[in-house]
This record gives sequence, structure tokens and C-alpha cells, in this order.
Amino acid sequence: MTPDVRDRAGRPHRANSRTGTAVPEAAWDRAVRLIGQAEEIALACHVTPDGDALGSMLAVGFALRSMGKRVVASFGDHHFVVPRLLRFLPGQEMLVPPEDYPAAPSLMMTFDASTFERLGLLRDNTARAREVIVLDHHPSNEGFGTLSLIDSTAAATAMLAEQLIYRLGGRLDRDIATCLYAGLVTDTGSFRHSSTTPAVHQMAGRLVATGLRTDEIARELWDRSPFGYLKVLAAALDRAVLESGLVWTYVTRVDRAAQGLPYAELEGIIDIVRRTDEAEVAVVLKEDDHGHWQVSTRSKGKADVGAVCAALGGGGHHNAAGYTSYDSVEKTMAAFRRELGKV
Ligand code: 5GP
Ligand code: MN
Repeated sequence: MTPDVRDRAGRPHRANSRTGTAVPEAAWDRAVRLIGQAEEIALACHVTPDGDALGSMLAVGFALRSMGKRVVASFGDHHFVVPRLLRFLPGQEMLVPPEDYPAAPSLMMTFDASTFERLGLLRDNTARAREVIVLDHHPSNEGFGTLSLIDSTAAATAMLAEQLIYRLGGRLDRDIATCLYAGLVTDTGSFRHSSTTPAVHQMAGRLVATGLRTDEIARELWDRSPFGYLKVLAAALDRAVLESGLVWTYVTRVDRAAQGLPYAELEGIIDIVRRTDEAEVAVVLKEDDHGHWQVSTRSKGKADVGAVCAALGGGGHHNAAGYTSYDSVEKTMAAFRRELGKV
């Protein structure tokens, strides 16, 4: 007999949420049926969206719109702004701030959100939704909705979004391809991470064939920033510490304020810090506008930072993960070292 599994909101959890497996056919079929029956579909991705979260959501939004569905899309940040580096993505007219989001959607879909908490201000809306389809690729996602389209072998949620679009009878156009490509290229680190399988390159081929300017997308995503970023980066690198296989640094609100730099501009710092040859694990503590530390962690493969961050209240992948710390820099690092020592 099937145990009576319930999600966090107390709804019976009907769908297959096994991780580490491809999405079962029955789950795809049910998603297509639910979407077919819906008039309005409310989309949500995780807070402070990255290219995969926002790109997957907007791509599916385009496909749903072309089926004649009403679409609203959002993410649950207190300060609702699309990160500057994602403003080139088409489809932003679908976005509404959390306060304008349907209070109790009949059909909701979430993108790249590994936990219920990652929905931020949209948690209550999600808890009240009749059906919640969860599209994700995080191994830690146990399925907080009523239907899981979760495949932890997928390099990006964008790969699941592409599948869904085909199964809905949609096809790729340049807008959809731009959004999906942003997701694919973000989560594979420009096709550098070990998650970059033949299927990833095959998907990239399909996307690029729509006429994408991959050079322009790459520049929007990684190769531009305001001048103040250089100064903040310099401060962060100046403070970097190397200690037995671990390299870490931090960026304060004061650093950013001195340069008028928004929090979202800090995303790339970890990619510079993690190149340190002497370190297996890299950590960057980024103080957000509320004074909390958003902790970005990366591993070169030996240590499972996903497990470390999960133990500290966050989550993510084996080699890239994060969490929020409400402690001081010193206490945050002490707790991190302690957990790292256990994996
Ligand atoms: P980043 O360091 O780029 O912000 O995050 C790396 C990865 O860690 C993300 O793709 C996401 O999967 C995960 N992650 C980051 N912050 C959090 C968090 O607060 N909670 C959870 N569950 N995962 C996080
Ligand atoms: Mn992702």
C-alpha cells in the first residue's frame, strides 16, 4: 500500500518524487493533462533567480501563452527586481510582483526551486494552490507539490522545461530558445561542469539552430558589470583566506554601499575565488540588504558541499550549493568548517 505521504502544506502527495531517476511517463502525461484543462497558470521560480530559474519559467510561459493560456509568473523576493544580468531575457512582461500573484492558483508550476522555502513570499500562494507541478533537477528536492517533474540527472531545469514544451505540442522559437539557453549555459558553467553530457550539447544545438546570438548572451550573462564591481571584487579578494584546502572570503553591505553596487552583482565572485589551486572548497559570504549572509559554496568534486549546506539549512548540488546564515562571519565559518569535516 502506498503510504499517506503529505507535502509541507498538508496536501496528499500523489506523484512520484523519487530522485535520481528520469521523470516517469505517467507524470509527464498528468502534467500535460492538468495544463490542458487550465485556463490560467501561475508560474514561480526560486528567490533571487538565476538564469536557469528565470529562463526555464519564461520559456514555459511563452509555450503556455501560445496555447492560449493566461500566464502570470513571479518569484518571491521582498525587493522584486529582475537581476540586471537577466534583463535581456524576453518575456518579462509575464512577470508580476508577489503582491499581484493569485492568492490561491488552481494550477501552479515551480521552476528550479529545490525546497518550499526557496519560493520566498510565494510560499502561502503555493500552499493554497490546488495543483502544484514542480519542475526541478536538484537531487535534494523531495517534491513539495502535487506532481513532481524532477530529474536530478538533468544538468538544468531548462532541460525539463524543453521536454515539457515538446510534450505540450510546442516548438522552439528564438524567444523560447534564448530563455532555455540562458538556463543551460548558466547551470553547466558554460558547458564546463561535469554535468555537461552529450544530451546537453544536443539540446544546445537545437537551441542555437533557432538563430541565437550566443556571443551576445554570454556577454550579457558574464562579461559586463558596473565599474564599482571591480572595487568590491578587489576588497573581497584582498580579504581572501587560504586554510588547508579551503579558500574563503566575504563581501559586506558596506563594501557595496561605497560603490552603489546591488547585491545581485556579487554572483560572479565565487567563480574567481574557486579557481584557487590550493583549495578543494571555496566559500564566499555575501551580506544581503537585510544584513544576513548568503553563503555560496563550491567544490572541485571530493567534498559534497550540497550535503554541507543542507546540514546548515540550505541545499544545492554536490559541487555548488548555498545557504543563509544569520550569524557573524566568524561563527558562520566555524559552523561551515565543522560540517565540512563530517563529509
Ligand atoms: P549560488 O552560490 O550560485 O547562489 O548557489 C549555488 C547553488 O546552491 C544554487 O544553484 C542552488 O541550487 C543552491 N543554493 C544556493 N542558496 C541556497 C539556499 O539558500 N537554499 C537552498 N536550498 N539551495 C541554495
Ligand atoms: Mn538549476
